[in-house]
Amino acid sequence: MDLLLAHEALKKYYGYDEFRPMQADIIKAIYEGKDTLVLMPTGGGKSICFQIPAITMDGVCVVVSPLISLMKDQVEGLRSNGIKAAFLNSSLSAREQNAVEDDLYNGNIKLLYVSPEKLVSQSFIPLLKQAKINLFAIDEAHCISSWGHDFRPEYTKMKFLKSQFKNIPVVALTATADKVTRRDIATQLNLDNPQVFISSFDRPNLSLNVRPGQKRIQQILDFIKARPNQSGIIYCLSRKNTEDLTGKLLKEGIKADFYHAGLPSGERAKVQEEFINDNVPIVCATVAFGMGIDKSNVRWVIHYNLPKNIESYYQEIGRAGRDGLKSDTLLFYSFRDVTVLREFIENGENAKQREIKMSKLDRMQQFADSLICRRKILLNYFGENLEKNCGNCDVCNNPPQHFDGTVLAQKALSAVTRLKERVGIRMLIDVLRGSNRKEIFQNGYDKIKTYGAGAANSANDWQHFINQIINLGFLEIAYDQKNVLRLTEASKPVLFGQQKVELVKMASIKEHRETQKAKLKKKTKTQRVRDDLFEVLRALRKKLARERGVPPYLVFTDATLEAMAANRPINDEEMKEIPGVGERKLHLYGNIFIDAIISFIKEKSSEGLKIQGTTYLVTHELYKEGFSVDEIATKRNLNVGTIYAHFAQLYEQGHEIDLTDFVSASEIRKVAEAIQKVEDKTKLKPIFDYLKEEIPYHKIRLVLAYRKRNVSI
Ligand code: ADP
Ligand code: ZN
Repeated sequence: MDLLLAHEALKKYYGYDEFRPMQADIIKAIYEGKDTLVLMPTGGGKSICFQIPAITMDGVCVVVSPLISLMKDQVEGLRSNGIKAAFLNSSLSAREQNAVEDDLYNGNIKLLYVSPEKLVSQSFIPLLKQAKINLFAIDEAHCISSWGHDFRPEYTKMKFLKSQFKNIPVVALTATADKVTRRDIATQLNLDNPQVFISSFDRPNLSLNVRPGQKRIQQILDFIKARPNQSGIIYCLSRKNTEDLTGKLLKEGIKADFYHAGLPSGERAKVQEEFINDNVPIVCATVAFGMGIDKSNVRWVIHYNLPKNIESYYQEIGRAGRDGLKSDTLLFYSFRDVTVLREFIENGENAKQREIKMSKLDRMQQFADSLICRRKILLNYFGENLEKNCGNCDVCNNPPQHFDGTVLAQKALSAVTRLKERVGIRMLIDVLRGSNRKEIFQNGYDKIKTYGAGAANSANDWQHFINQIINLGFLEIAYDQKNVLRLTEASKPVLFGQQKVELVKMASIKEHRETQKAKLKKKTKTQRVRDDLFEVLRALRKKLARERGVPPYLVFTDATLEAMAANRPINDEEMKEIPGVGERKLHLYGNIFIDAIISFIKEKSSEGLKIQGTTYLVTHELYKEGFSVDEIATKRNLNVGTIYAHFAQLYEQGHEIDLTDFVSASEIRKVAEAIQKVEDKTKLKPIFDYLKEEIPYHKIRLVLAYRKRNVSI
């Protein structure tokens, strides 16, 4: 098989020009009949790796997928691109199943998605034997491993594929697999010396931001208001949280809904559906939300609470920006969350599991606390090395400035000592700031020497300083004793002035927020004009999706709409150049979107807004309305030559223009003659000169355009 065919299929069916890194290599290996193991992050583009071989090779590819809802989406996606696909699982009636099985038998489909249960069932295997299978694709292959978190016993029964279908290649694909799981997948599937492809887990389009969890609601409101019409997910720790937060958003006029495992399944399905269809842009959810959500235009993910480990965090933020466009993630971090998560862990399971979970939580906390590039830490965690700082995380955008915080630290440590290690962070801050809280007087805390010693700094500042002091190891939280603060081995040298403490300036944290805010404002301004068209196209997409009963992203993805908004294609040729517009979609939607773009341009022009590169369209509109060249020129306050140039351009692009409206038959003849005589037949000046300056430039130009289209002249 030739990779050229694969390239053609990529353009024809998906409307993409280039493969992403690794995709072509994987396809090549499959063409060569090799078994392959593919590790790619979510949104990396795994599907194309087996879909293109399936389309281009003889026969049908059987795709095993554990997620029934995802299966349906994928099949719909394929069909909308003009690829014959079907699925088989328990959600179909017996009759529907029979129909699909007939299609399989008769070679009428290129891709068949099946649940693992179906694949391993005794009745299905004989049927498979009769079909012409070209490839087995095992999606979500980590489900095979009992080490993973998604273990599915049926997955372990798939060894028979390699023994019963001897020469048919198998590709196993997953977005999460450590080394153990990787080995497990290869063994369990009995893969024959598989070629392993690991693509980078870096998702440079996702910005990474961590902020202290104070005034979360206000921060979230600001965040959402800076991103109008964008779709996002807010992950919360508790079910109640999701409901409360949704209530608060609704009160502010922000459309949102909530999702958690406590809802009846029908309701859950509905929220998910509304989200996918862009009817509800924002969902506040527990981590139950997301599995099986294949929505490519999620623009942001917020973690209201700290996730329990880095794997979960990465998976959850990975739901943003699957279309590769810039997307934002924001994590709120507070010690309280850590405490709650610790309690969860302590109350559960066996000692070994507790230990693993606790250390994973520690890593998560370290990530949130970190003062070095966050992406470096993340990729490090997944075994990758990022050489340079990423430039797209809050630490990179605001390199911390340190100052000598020894005296501040001494005040805090001394207060902890004098309070006999009996209070938590809140009380410590109140004592340092000399608060009048009742409990302070009841306990006599106002009598200690450091009472009020830190009044010069705000409570907020103190919170940051103490967080840092804890992270530096000079204080610790006694999770086993109501989270009171305790001294550590490292405290003494500080208290006795033998060690300096470097803290990060509050000012730099504030500055960072200011610059972030300023940046946001600027961005939205410069994008305005384009955003208008984008919104028009988005609304159109939604309307079409509703009419056809498919999710909007199956019509076009956000990335495709953005490209349309930026390039404003107004004919088939230009439309075909937009990434994501393949042949079927061009056929189905091309004209509808072109019309929308043209009327947008017209409308803007009549409002007096100049849109570069489109002025000739306005001329065209006036022409269609019956105005003469002179009238158009007057109306538009342009000179006649310019209007002629517009017609030349329109004509070259294939618009219906009758040139004889503008040049007489004798003029055409004269120019044609001149063209025969002059040497350079594409330049205006020699023709102009040859005709002794009798026929003006703009008319010659028009005849040349005519010639370009009808070479016979
Ligand atoms: P995964 O299964 O790895 O999570 P998908 O296969 O769903 O990812 O791909 C994610 C998105 O990237 C889809 O919208 C897909 O159309 C797009 N995509 C995949 N390959 C390419 C490519 N070569 N060029 C442009 N976009 C691509
Ligand atoms: Zn960074």
